[in-house]
Amino acid sequence: MKCIGLIGGMSWNSSAEYYRLINTLVAERLGGLHSARVILYSVEFDGIGRAQREDRWDDMAVTLTDAGKALKRAGADFLLICTNTMHKVAPAVAEGAGLPLLHIADVTGQAIRQAGLNTVGLLGSRFTMDEDFCRAKLQDRFGLEVLVPQDEDADCVHNIIFDELCQGRFEPAARKKCVEIIAGLIEQGAEGIILGCTELPLLIRPDDINVTLFDTTRLHAAAAVDMAMSDDE
Ligand code: GLU
Repeated sequence: MKCIGLIGGMSWNSSAEYYRLINTLVAERLGGLHSARVILYSVEFDGIGRAQREDRWDDMAVTLTDAGKALKRAGADFLLICTNTMHKVAPAVAEGAGLPLLHIADVTGQAIRQAGLNTVGLLGSRFTMDEDFCRAKLQDRFGLEVLVPQDEDADCVHNIIFDELCQGRFEPAARKKCVEIIAGLIEQGAEGIILGCTELPLLIRPDDINVTLFDTTRLHAAAAVDMAMSDDE
């Protein structure tokens, strides 16, 4: 089994979920006492959050690359960045750390294609919803049409992520608001919804929505387990 290197802590709430899911999936496949080979490098999120607000992406690329290098030295065979947003610096991290990196948008795009959908709604931070680092892959590589909330709805999702979910608060009011915003995207033609922030699946469950949910945390963790076990007999 290959060793999975997790660059996490953004926030730690979702990184804990990655750790739980990865070990659960390995145990389901192998049974008994089996568990994953996994190393977590958890960064201090406050500095990352400030750098995001100040648009210092080169600094964040250095921080995450240093984490990737440390994971490589510790024995990781490949890397995951446990957040959609920080995939903005994924190419620099993969190159700088010198390890393969399993990209969250590749995993998500594959799952949507497998489900046979063409148009999806995307909820995430404003960086993920507004910029191209994940959307371009979904659109260009997988041929998907991606709908995102606009204006105050986009701000609302972003603020829920940073002011509540990343601080470990999962409130019914936030769930209700996100479900309303998702309903608007479905009305516009979304056949499925990407929970494109790794904390959102801790707030919104499949039962809350009447179309297929693409939980990027679960998809990313499951793909990591596939990759870790790909050479096993
Ligand atoms: N975990 C969130 C995401 O998946 C947001 C936190 C961040 O990385 O800025 O985008």
